[in-house]
Formats: sequence, C-alpha cells, structure tokens
Amino acid sequence: MPADAAHTPIESTAAAYWVMLRRIALAAAAIDLVFLLLYGLLGATALALLNLASIAMYAAAWWLLHLRKNVLGVLLMWFEVLAHAAAGSLLLGWEADFHYFLLLFVPAIVVGVPHRLAIPLMAVLLAFYAGLYLTCRAWAPLSPLPPVHFEIARWFNIVLVFGLFYGVAAFYRQRVRAAESAMRRLARIDALTGLSNRAHFQERAAAELSRARREGRPLTVMLADVDHFKVVNDTHGHDAGDLVLAAVARSMASTLREHDLLARWGGEEFIALLPATPGAEACAVAERVRQAVASTTVVVDGRTLNVTLSIGLAEVLAGDLHGATRRADEALYASKRAGRNRLTHADDPGAPPAPGAPAARGDRAHDDGGAQGHLRHSGLPPP
Ligand code: GH3
Ligand code: MG
Ligand code: MG
Repeated sequence: MPADAAHTPIESTAAAYWVMLRRIALAAAAIDLVFLLLYGLLGATALALLNLASIAMYAAAWWLLHLRKNVLGVLLMWFEVLAHAAAGSLLLGWEADFHYFLLLFVPAIVVGVPHRLAIPLMAVLLAFYAGLYLTCRAWAPLSPLPPVHFEIARWFNIVLVFGLFYGVAAFYRQRVRAAESAMRRLARIDALTGLSNRAHFQERAAAELSRARREGRPLTVMLADVDHFKVVNDTHGHDAGDLVLAAVARSMASTLREHDLLARWGGEEFIALLPATPGAEACAVAERVRQAVASTTVVVDGRTLNVTLSIGLAEVLAGDLHGATRRADEALYASKRAGRNRLTHADDPGAPPAPGAPAARGDRAHDDGGAQGHLRHSGLPPP
C-alpha cells in the first residue's frame, strides 16, 4: 500500500519553464546552424552572418540560464528573436515571412510576464510589427535572393514557425495534464501520512461494497485510534506527533494486505476495509496490525517514542457501511475502556485478546479513564 504517495515532489511549472527555455536555446542554436549552412550554400552571406550572430546569442543565453541568470538569459533570447525577425525582413523583404517569428512573443508574454505588463507589452509588440511592416514596404530588400532561393528560405521559416508553435502548445498541454493529475492526487491523499483521505476511502469503499455484494463475500470495517496521542503532542511537540502518525500509517500500510483499503479517517484515527474477510480472520489481521504498531518506534531528537492502537471491528451487514463504521467505532471505544492496546469485534466473540491484556470483547466495564495507557517513552522518564 503506497504510504508515501503524497510525498512525491510535484515539479513546479516555473522550474519546468526554465528547463524548457534552456532546451529552446539549444534547439534554436542548432536550427540557426542549419540556416547558416543553408544560406552559405545559397550564397547569402549577410543572412549567413545573421545566423552566426544568432548562434552566439543563443549559446550565451543558454549559459546565462545555466548560471540561473534567468532574466538576462530570457532578455537575450527575446532580443535575438526581435533582431532576427527584423534583420531577416529587411534583408530579404516582408514576404520572406521572418515576421511570423514575432508571433512567438504572444505566448511568451502571456505566460512569462507579470499580468499588469502583458497588455502594454502586447501593444509594443504590435507597434514593432507594424513598424517593421511599414519599413519593409518603404524600402527594397537590402540583400535580395534569386526567386528559388527566396522560396526555400521562406518555407524554411514557415515550417519552423509551425514547429515552434507545436512545441509551445505541447509543452503547456503536458504541464496542464501534470497539474491536473497532481491536484487529483492531492484531493485524494492525506498529506501527512500519504494514505487515502476520508473522501477517497468512501469512493473506493463504494466500489468494494458492490463487488462484495456481487460476489456474496463478507466485508469487515476496522477502525483504529492511537492511544493517548495527546500526550505525545503535549510532551514532545506537535511535530513529533506528526512523525509518529506518519510512522503508524506506514506500519499499518505495510502490515495490511495488498487488497485492504486503508485511509486516515481523521486526527489520529485510521480506517481499513478488509474485503473477503469474515470475523475471525479480520481479528487476526487487526491483531497483526496492533502488534506491528506496538513494536514500531520513532526516534525524535534522540528520544524513542512508541505508541499503541485501540481497534474496533465490525462486519458490513446488508451493504450498510455507515452502520458497520458506527459499530466498529463503538467496539473501538470498548477497547479503550477495557484498557487500550487491544481489539474488539462488535459482533464476533472469537476475537483474540491482546497478549497480556484482558479479553475486551464487548466489555465496557473497565474504563481506566485514560490515565495509564500504553504510551512508552524509552530512554525518557514517563510523561
Ligand atoms: P485516547 O487514548 O482516548 O484516544 O486519547 P488521545 O489522547 O489519543 O485522544 P484525544 O482525542 O484526546 O487526542 C487526540 C489528539 O490527536 C488531539 C489532537 O491534537 C491530536 N491530533 C489530531 N490530528 C493530529 C495531527 O495531524 N498531528 C498531530 N501532531 N496531532 C494530531
Ligand atoms: Mg486517540
Ligand atoms: Mg481519536
């Protein structure tokens, strides 16, 4: 049972964004190298030199991003795209379609710039675009190419712009999906223990109930509450309490079987649904859990802490999970009243007593008032 699911780090979109930018800088330098060779072959020296300058800028931008000088790196990349689009348009003419590269600033502005700057920057971009258009219309191309070479250069630009937009869209699709699945996981998982939370338990339990009904198999609910947990918090602090709760969850998860559903019910209470498990077998499973937790120790600041569980069990009758949970809760409190660190089955007199503990089945006469309990603090005076 995965008790550490909640602790898988969620890669932040911001971190992924910088990684993506470094990759883009490398890819852009490689693409400009192809253009450099192409223009060299076509005999367009001015454009070949333009691409050489672009390669140098992307290499510098990659290095800046690598050094975490993110703002400088991005500014250099933006400058390169602006300069390249402008110089290409002026050298070959507006119809060479270098201006399409300016459209790449739209997603960059929306995603990478503070919201209040987005509209002004869009206006600047539009003004730059219009200015470049008017200049190209007013001037003849500074370094015209023969028609066939021109078409090759132009279609290189168009294919590249299509590819870049595909890459940007694919990146954001992947980020949105990753964020959605992280949110779904967070909505189901208890952050402290990594177990399912109550809502997710109920969702999974509903499926388990209908399977049990179909197959006519018994289903048992097990509720477990940490004994004298308040003392752990009061004596060792809330953080130590958190560590103990996480350790209890791990111990329960590793002791239960693969098909048992375990969840944090709330506070220091846990719930498990044991499919295809009738009374006596459920008691044996619960006893293993009780023993596993009782023998689990947590070292906090050099102090060894150890807690126990009181457990209540009830079989789900006529598909009534709510009723079974209520009876398991009553059985749990019977365990508390009988001295804690033990289990009680609501309707099965065959439940085994805890070793060294009096039988607790349905026995609600021995309430120790919670004064003694079974909290042990090895190496420390008792609280
Ligand atoms: P009993 O044996 O009767 O169950 O005694 P108890 O002290 O365990 O029961 P009580 O209900 O008095 O105290 C439960 C404590 O669990 C109180 C609450 O502050 C603590 N608790 C609940 N959730 C958390 C948590 O997430 N972290 C920590 N550290 N403590 C928690
Ligand atoms: Mg408790
Ligand atoms: Mg409690």
